[in-house]
Amino acid sequence: MSATSPPCASPTGDDPAERARAFLDARGPALERRVLAEGWTAAEGELEGLRAEVQAAGLWCPALPREWGGMGLGLPVFARVSEALGRWIFGHYAFGVQAPDMGNMELLLSHGTDAQRERWLRPLAAGRVRSCFAMTEPEHAGSNPVVLSTTARRDGDGYVLNGHKWFTSSADGAAFAIVMAVTDSHAARPHERASMLIVPMDAPGVELVRNLPVMGEAGGGWASHAEVRFHDVRVPAADGLGAEGAGFALAQERLGPGRIHHCMRWIGICERAFDLMCARAAGRELAPGEPLGRQQAVQFWVAESRAEIDAARLLVLHTAERIEREGQHAARDDVSAIKFHVAGVLGRVLDRAIQVHGALGMTYETPLAFWYAHERAARIYDGPDEVHKAALGSRILTRYGMTRRER
Ligand SMILES: Cc1cc2nc3c(=O)[nH]c(=O)nc-3n(C[C@H](O)[C@H](O)[C@H](O)COP(=O)(O)OP(=O)(O)OC[C@H]3O[C@@H](n4cnc5c(N)ncnc54)[C@H](O)[C@@H]3O)c2cc1C
Repeated sequence: MSATSPPCASPTGDDPAERARAFLDARGPALERRVLAEGWTAAEGELEGLRAEVQAAGLWCPALPREWGGMGLGLPVFARVSEALGRWIFGHYAFGVQAPDMGNMELLLSHGTDAQRERWLRPLAAGRVRSCFAMTEPEHAGSNPVVLSTTARRDGDGYVLNGHKWFTSSADGAAFAIVMAVTDSHAARPHERASMLIVPMDAPGVELVRNLPVMGEAGGGWASHAEVRFHDVRVPAADGLGAEGAGFALAQERLGPGRIHHCMRWIGICERAFDLMCARAAGRELAPGEPLGRQQAVQFWVAESRAEIDAARLLVLHTAERIEREGQHAARDDVSAIKFHVAGVLGRVLDRAIQVHGALGMTYETPLAFWYAHERAARIYDGPDEVHKAALGSRILTRYGMTRRER
């Protein structure tokens, strides 16, 4: 138990984070063991059953407005729920707020037409379908996403889409993709060249090439990352999301709250890893009556992890409150800082927890190795750490009078 646990409990017992935590503490362990032992796809039926229970308990999609079936929580409150969900490998999925669907729901909510919301957001919000977001291409540096080869050429009352994407998370079994494609390669500013299009995954010309093995595991269904090709796919103009040329502006908007969700999920993982590390250190004996936790090296790992997790949480909650109060633009330094800072804390805490578990830490008897394999990517997706550090550092130095490089 943390000396400085998050201030979750409410006197009335209706704190959403506490309710989510209690729900998963009761229902999580057996299902987590199954997912780790048999894989995501084998456990999908049981996972759907759990989602139905979450809906019946009135805890579904906490970040979505009530009129769309959610709990209508503001960002700082949802942030704490996200931490509670992050403690379990399927927490966000069970509550209907998993990436990339949550980001796509936010996009549709803010920029979708009435028709698009009815057709795509309604079933997505209800958990009846899944979606994916296809921006990154194997041929270009995803860190600089304005360089894209995927094109959507105007043709009559629609577009013809051609391109090659990869790391399209959860494309396997998704009903639709939000695809970033160049609609005007001559636009004066690179950031105005691309648009977002909603593309049904069963449209003629959409090819799901394969699920890419991540650290050797190709996964399946929601828990997968696909290579996708678009061959002359016809997309009606009405399926453009937001204004033509606004693709990057929308992508930027999608990432702000998304980073809060991810960072708090990572803090949830850290807390669970911390609990596992401490329990193991206290219970494992190096010799009769000599627990592992008496070693100073282990005590340092525990102390450092405690301080790093608590500091990370405060930084993210501060950022969530700032986004809510002043908007995303005002909070952009904080958003960059939390992305690389929390991803680093996550890596260090998981590494220490595995070390304390010894060989057991390398197995799927605990979720540590699963997270170690899948969350290494935290320092790469949503913008690699170095991009955020460079952006933050350069913005700070500009305020000290440094001139910026013209692009
Ligand atoms: C698990 C996972 C899920 C993903 N899901 C999706 C998804 O659903 N949809 C989607 O479109 N994409 C997704 N991605 C792709 C992700 O957004 C890209 O991998 C990311 O943007 C980095 O692009 P890249 O892989 O092409 O690396 P590159 O751009 O080739 O960069 C390689 C490395 O170069 C370094 N680097 C880059 N820029 C700088 C800089 N300015 N300064 C210093 N160093 C730098 C960084 O260390 C970086 O890791 C996912 C990736 C992963 C791993």
